[in-house]
Amino acid sequence: MFLENASQKGWIEVICGSMFSGKTEELIRRLRRASFANQRVEIFKPHVDVRYSEEEVVSHDARAIPSTPVDSSHSILLLASGVDVVGIDEVQFFDPGIVEVCRQLADDGVRVIAAGLDMDYTGRPFGPMPDLMATAEYVTKVHAICVRCGNLAHHSHRLTTDERQVMLGAQEVYEPICRHCFAELRHREQECGHEEDAEGSSPVVRDGRAAPR
Ligand SMILES: [Zn+2]
Repeated sequence: MFLENASQKGWIEVICGSMFSGKTEELIRRLRRASFANQRVEIFKPHVDVRYSEEEVVSHDARAIPSTPVDSSHSILLLASGVDVVGIDEVQFFDPGIVEVCRQLADDGVRVIAAGLDMDYTGRPFGPMPDLMATAEYVTKVHAICVRCGNLAHHSHRLTTDERQVMLGAQEVYEPICRHCFAELRHREQECGHEEDAEGSSPVVRDGRAAPR
């Protein structure tokens, strides 16, 4: 478990993982502890994430803390003056400038805690996450449980055929799965894809939720 170093001033923490891995819960836990220590805390999230509530950071278990939705990473610099701790949720949706914003805040003595998806649904690194993780002092990778086999999961498997990288949703759109189940699904999708060339039907819909758990 992450423990704060109270004697230090200004650093970056990243909490990353798949959907349902408890990233936001861990972010909230750290921010609550900072509040208990009488630190001034501000929380930001990208404007795009409006799944549950406009002005709250909400984890899937609905323990919420108020936050400010912002349109760009630069807005965080303008809004975070005079605070001790800046929390950022869904940081993967921010523009690449978020890395420099976090660096500036940390250089100025602010503790920055950023939580986000490290991979998109195809398994590729998500947006600014690689750069942010490389420049952070502390990186915590949290895991979900694979809904197919019960192992540790680090992939967010999308249950629809939509191919946009950003697609909001929770249970009805994504499921957490492990490396081996992910590889097996990819393999089957590829095989079905070849069949599809011949038959002309959609492979992923056929594959979808009906796959064995
Ligand atoms: Zn699995």
